[in-house]
Amino acid sequence: MKMRTVIALIALALASGTGSEARAAIKVITSTEDLAALVKEIGGDKVTVESLAKGYQDPHFVEAKPSFVLKLNGADLLVVVGRELEQGWLPPLITQSRNAKIQPGGTNYLDASTTAKILDIPTGQITRAMGDVHPQGNPHYWLDPGNGRRIAKAVQDKLTALSPNDAAYFAQRAGDFDKRLGEGEKRWQAAMAPYKGLKVVTYHRSWPNFADVFGLNVVGYVEPKPGIPPSPAHQLTLTQEMKRQGVKLILVEPYFDLQTPNKIARDTGARVLVMPPSVGGVKDVQTYLQLFDYDINLLISAIKETGAAAAR
Ligand SMILES: [Zn+2]
Repeated sequence: MKMRTVIALIALALASGTGSEARAAIKVITSTEDLAALVKEIGGDKVTVESLAKGYQDPHFVEAKPSFVLKLNGADLLVVVGRELEQGWLPPLITQSRNAKIQPGGTNYLDASTTAKILDIPTGQITRAMGDVHPQGNPHYWLDPGNGRRIAKAVQDKLTALSPNDAAYFAQRAGDFDKRLGEGEKRWQAAMAPYKGLKVVTYHRSWPNFADVFGLNVVGYVEPKPGIPPSPAHQLTLTQEMKRQGVKLILVEPYFDLQTPNKIARDTGARVLVMPPSVGGVKDVQTYLQLFDYDINLLISAIKETGAAAAR
């Protein structure tokens, strides 16, 4: 390369480095892979995004790694599920990150629950001291595609505020996502329409939004309370109730021990269905839309195989 060309290139690099047109991608850290998938939809190649928790982990109880602090330290934006989902592991990491921008309430912190439709909001006083890990309403709200749309909008607004010059780019991607999500909603509603009112039991209270949208009737839980392991007394009551109501399906999140669900299944003639509630829960689910396609396919196959459709 000629010296003159090299100098020209250096000059160009310096100019673009200081100019307003050349911006590094926005570094986004999310607590969960569901949020990371939604950020990718809107942010495209204007962002880099990484989730701290993996989709196959229980998002209430994630093992904090020292590398998380480093990632938070370098983040331009932190997106969390909120409603105390991450209360057991994330707050000290945010403090230790010494990144002033991403502290709760800061300009570069986004609590995705603030614009979402939240179910199971307690009426009485509930504290974590009672062991309930859902003291501020149900934090598994991303399992309603309508909430996926609301989260995507909040992400779009936040990214636009951080990088106003990319507003049109984010708006175009948001529009495209919204269109694909709308088509997905039609597809999923059509697939689930024959099974409205289907009775199921779930391990944890991960599915109230999903059940609401797709017409499942959740009649009980393997956990006596969110975050409280199953007890023999509760197991007995649940078994009797499932027999009485003819429940044929027990949905279990991939990170729970199958011993109790299997025992209940044997005693009731029901089937255990391990169903991922998050992107990354299984390797075939890498996008927000794939999560619903995968789960609804899985669910319908199990309904057909067990004859669960009769339990309504
Ligand atoms: Zn939960």
